[in-house]
Amino acid sequence: METSTDATVAEGSGSEGSGGEPPAGSREVAAAPPSSLSPSRAGDFMQCPLLYRFRVIDRLPEKPSEAATRGTLVHAVLERLFDTPATERTAPRAKALIPGQWDRLRESRPEVVELFADDPEGERLARWLSEAERLVERWFTLEDPTRLEPAERELFVEAELDSGLRLRGIIDRVDVAPTGEVRIVDYKTGKAPRPEYAESALFQMKFYALVVWRLKGVVPRRLQLVYLGSGDVLTYDPVLADLERVERKLLALWDAISLATETGNWRPRPTKLCGWCDHQAVCPEFGGTPPPYPLPVRSPASGGGAQGRMGPD
Ligand code: SF4
Repeated sequence: METSTDATVAEGSGSEGSGGEPPAGSREVAAAPPSSLSPSRAGDFMQCPLLYRFRVIDRLPEKPSEAATRGTLVHAVLERLFDTPATERTAPRAKALIPGQWDRLRESRPEVVELFADDPEGERLARWLSEAERLVERWFTLEDPTRLEPAERELFVEAELDSGLRLRGIIDRVDVAPTGEVRIVDYKTGKAPRPEYAESALFQMKFYALVVWRLKGVVPRRLQLVYLGSGDVLTYDPVLADLERVERKLLALWDAISLATETGNWRPRPTKLCGWCDHQAVCPEFGGTPPPYPLPVRSPASGGGAQGRMGPD
């Protein structure tokens, strides 16, 4: 997943990175067993069960990254632009929103200020902001906001499956056609994946489609990923069988997560994505020792068997 997943990790954004949950380690909260699943946390478990534990169970702090923070900023700008009348939704107008949204982001998440603490002249910040401008500008080559009137923006969704598993997340944009057809849109500030990794990229979108179907009984007509980093748009028109498959996949994933939670057996799975992981210092793969497991455990006799490699299919 070179350009795609690396980029996705690096370019995590408001909803890319959080998936309906606060950023990992963003606040002090007592450890508790997981009670719901978001696309990003499902992705964490598939990538590395131990990473999931560090983020969801231990809630270890993570440093903000320039790329992820820029993603959050760009998402905020694209969302806010729809507050203006359709004819005024131009690239200059959108770029003019960046300074104000950056101020708001610094207020709501003061930790992002440390990103540029060692940049007294503001040169790196200026480059970072101009890259945000470039991403915003590119969006106008991919979609025309003067012709869009989203039904929802930054929509928090949550649905409970028959098994009791709660799925949740934040959808960047929902468009509803006059015919009632639903389109789910997600912005990515990274690059589009190579074709062989498209399925992985679509997993998050199918997750959202499943939630919408469960909530409203409507299968979304189209799933659309807008890659601002490379200027690509990836679309997929799901059918019911896709969503049923994703549901089965998530139930299996949840079984594996529940077993690991009960036994405390969270296996590290080293990949090249470890380079993006904030937790190497406490990861056995890098000579570290995880913190004491904060939850009660049952006998590990049967534990952990379900942590084989789990992909999005
Ligand atoms: S460093 Fe790699 S193996 Fe270790 S927790 Fe992070 S992602 Fe998992």
